Amino acid sequence: MTARKHQMKKKTVRQLSAEMEQLRTDTSNAFMGYGQLLDQLNTILTLLLDKMDLLDRSDCECGFKINIPLFVELDSPKSCPQCGKDIENGQTTLDEFSEEE
Ligand SMILES: [Zn+2]
Repeated sequence: MTARKHQMKKKTVRQLSAEMEQLRTDTSNAFMGYGQLLDQLNTILTLLLDKMDLLDRSDCECGFKINIPLFVELDSPKSCPQCGKDIENGQTTLDEFSEEE
């Protein structure tokens, strides 16, 4: 009985280990799924905002596309997230507007 109990316990630990491994795989897959979903949502949102003229789009020299939504008060990136180069666009920002007045 003791031996069998011991064996059962061992099996349980192994099962637990397998379940944890499965959980790890499932969690990893779930996060990958969320990542793809976020990419899709980001694409949809970008296209929608662009259609509504609510997006300041600029292309960096490195090819990175910088999209800044115009309807929210965000700290707009001053440099390219990819290469770190200063963003140059002819667009007058709200800050510059209030300084001119
Ligand atoms: Zn860049």
